Amino acid sequence: MEYRNLGRTGIRVSRLCFGLLTIGPLQANLPLAEGVDVLKYAVEQGVNFFDTAEIYESYSYLRGMLRSFPGRELIISTKSYAVTAKEMEQSLERARRELDRDYIDIFLLHEQESALTIRGHRAALDYLLEAKKKGLVRAVGISTHRIAGVRGALELPEIDVIHPLFNIKGLGIQDGTLQEMEEVLTEAAAAGKGIYLMKALGGGNLLPQAREALDYAFSRPFAAAVAVGMKARWEVDINVLAAQGQPIPDQLEKLMGSEKRRLRIDPWCEGCGKCAEQCPQEALFLGDDGKAHVREEECLLCGYCAAACPFFYIKVY
Ligand code: SF4
Ligand code: SF4
Repeated sequence: MEYRNLGRTGIRVSRLCFGLLTIGPLQANLPLAEGVDVLKYAVEQGVNFFDTAEIYESYSYLRGMLRSFPGRELIISTKSYAVTAKEMEQSLERARRELDRDYIDIFLLHEQESALTIRGHRAALDYLLEAKKKGLVRAVGISTHRIAGVRGALELPEIDVIHPLFNIKGLGIQDGTLQEMEEVLTEAAAAGKGIYLMKALGGGNLLPQAREALDYAFSRPFAAAVAVGMKARWEVDINVLAAQGQPIPDQLEKLMGSEKRRLRIDPWCEGCGKCAEQCPQEALFLGDDGKAHVREEECLLCGYCAAACPFFYIKVY
């Protein structure tokens, strides 16, 4: 496994970052022992970088994995929607408690749309910066699906890390082209920001061309790492090979290409609209029948709507 410096954070990360969204309750909902096993297997293959979020409800898997490797430097990045200092304090304390760790390596403001959104989260960001001074956090940053979000982070020297949506087709970039995203990320990397990508497989939509999509993401010079969701050992094997630029055995590639994931909305949906408000892609709408429906071509299968539904009527499977 190759390791790179994450910008100027002083943190060295494996090129393959294990994305925790997939194994948690918003998606595969693996039993704890099974999820921990996949994570431990990834560590044994050289992965040292793990991306999660408060909304993913996956700290227990990480804690199980961390306990198996005492003393090993494993990098955890998490994120929260906190707006106020108090909310961010609660998010940070929850992460430290549930991960059983004194500090969190990287803490991000989740889904920042622009400089304006970041300004709206200033109190939470300032809390993180204070926590960094106290050694409770090593680096702070944002995650974003937008070019304007990257630009907003670029304006702020105190932002260490950017976690942007990026894939070979530009799927999910909400405010411009793939080329524009590539240009601003190149600028951000040159300014010393640590960049690791998300949605290299378009939330599963690019699985039929997974090899090409992974090659593209791992060959971007501005990206220190690429976060990929994994839920089985064979997926770890594929992504480790892709991260190293090595050929993937046909059998494994076929297995990956045959994976088809979908969003399911239960027919007893009550039409409250909370899921649509949460969707970063504007892929959900309330139909004439008063129920939520998805525009599949817009959906990145992120599962955020599932977390927003008060009745648990949405699943990604
Ligand atoms: S519909 Fe749900 S899973 Fe699809 S992009 Fe929107 S929030 Fe994510
Ligand atoms: S949040 Fe749940 S109940 Fe409300 S519209 Fe969405 S699926 Fe239906």
